[in-house]
Amino acid sequence: MSLTSPSYIRDVLAQHKIRLKKSLGQHFLVDENIVRKIASAAQLSPQDTVVEIGAGIGTLTQELAQRAARVIAVEIDGRLIPLLKEHLRPCANVTIVNQDFLQLDLREIALDKKIVIVGNLPYGVTAPILEKLIEVYDILTAATLLVQAEVADKLCAVPGTRDAGAITIFVQGFAEVQRVFSVSRHVFFPKPEVDSALVRLKFYEHPQFCAPAGLFFTVVRAAFNLRRKTLKQSLTRSPLLALSPKVALEALERAQLDPQRRGETLSIAEFDRLAQALVALQRDRDEAR
Ligand code: SAM
Repeated sequence: MSLTSPSYIRDVLAQHKIRLKKSLGQHFLVDENIVRKIASAAQLSPQDTVVEIGAGIGTLTQELAQRAARVIAVEIDGRLIPLLKEHLRPCANVTIVNQDFLQLDLREIALDKKIVIVGNLPYGVTAPILEKLIEVYDILTAATLLVQAEVADKLCAVPGTRDAGAITIFVQGFAEVQRVFSVSRHVFFPKPEVDSALVRLKFYEHPQFCAPAGLFFTVVRAAFNLRRKTLKQSLTRSPLLALSPKVALEALERAQLDPQRRGETLSIAEFDRLAQALVALQRDRDEAR
């Protein structure tokens, strides 16, 4: 039985009376070569523990199981679990977990070892998945993810350019991002409406910024929520910060940033300077009390 055969997938789903759900991004890979290329791009070593996001019917899981010590195959849809068990029976190193990846305790899985993430992502939850990954960046070595092509472009954009978004800054603050290759919509069953691309995030030992992460995120969000406004306007008008004009100008001066610049033009280092300036201002005010 070949898991990449559309007729096999159609038949086995019919036997189990399963209708695929668009809301769960259920588009399965039906090209063996692409499956192998994704597993190979993950650069696994035989000692690795891999967590696979959205195992589906186990197509990619089988390939990962041959290359890693252990694979935790996470799948939210309970209807697919009997199929996963059947397809992965020969793979003794796979553990199937019927859970929402967003609820999974990755630290509990990792214990004192770093883990690797791989997944052909359900596109509706790409952003929360990325946010979850950067929250635990310290226990991850890399994440190899198949995402919508436009999302891949955003993740790889140069901070400070028009193509960048808040997600660019968040992810690049924690990982070196590489667009590995494009994947056509024709290699999925059923065929999705968008093309995809594989990205690989290689997590740094330490974030690329020194400010407290919560404040760094807030400053970036405030700047991109009002991305066409000047920095001074976004710092004062965004409800996330709502600084007084005086404090906003003081912070910008400390950070050596032109108040007339748009937030979207800032590099990671400049966002960091701004967040650190806000910390320093708060400290000065506390000391003056
Ligand atoms: N890995 C398979 C493949 O490549 O053919 C399936 C990939 S399919 C694009 C995404 C899978 O993620 C679906 O099986 C879907 O049910 C599952 N999924 C959706 N949301 C999920 C979540 N929050 N946690 C875990 N799995 C999820």
